[in-house]
Amino acid sequence: MATLLGVACCCVAATKVCRTSLSDTKTPADTTTVEKHYKEVRRPTPNLGKGRNEVIGIVLHHTAEPQPVSRSVNKLCDPKSGVSSHVVIDTDGTRYVLAPPTAVCWHAGKSHLNGRDGCNNFTVGIEFQGNTLEEPLTDDQIQSAIEYMLPIIRQYNISLTNIVTHEQIRNAWKKAHPNAHSYGKVDITPTEYERVMMALRKAMAQ
Ligand SMILES: [Zn+2]
Repeated sequence: MATLLGVACCCVAATKVCRTSLSDTKTPADTTTVEKHYKEVRRPTPNLGKGRNEVIGIVLHHTAEPQPVSRSVNKLCDPKSGVSSHVVIDTDGTRYVLAPPTAVCWHAGKSHLNGRDGCNNFTVGIEFQGNTLEEPLTDDQIQSAIEYMLPIIRQYNISLTNIVTHEQIRNAWKKAHPNAHSYGKVDITPTEYERVMMALRKAMAQ
């Protein structure tokens, strides 16, 4: 998760997409509904930037914090930490929602996406509880993230190419600013990112 005050980083959520009963053969396809499957807990964070998030992308993180998840949530809600994210997703899929998508959270730090710096201003940050360098995401974490992301992706028409990892946007920043001082960022692994994206593409095809 995070780093320096105000330029920090961090990671999130749970959902199950259900189709309504097709017992009535005349039921139109648009009756597909999204039912909340995973528990959602609201924990508003005070660590928010000014302005309105444009919500054109989503950044995936892992917290790199040991259990329990309260360690991560408390840190992301602590004014002294200087970090936050929109949601934290525990290993059982429980989502701790810290801010709405339109809020500017402090999860991306020095970052670059689509030719722009400062991804906090235009992306939603999802933190997965745990450290993917040591343990893979649980299936509940992935399904919960999909449940969280799908409505946002549809509402804001987010391109799948704008769903990225913290490490990707940090590396893009370094490439865009080759002479600037920066530090590396190890975050959710490419393997776990691919698992999330594969499940997401599958859910969107349903
Ligand atoms: Zn991160």
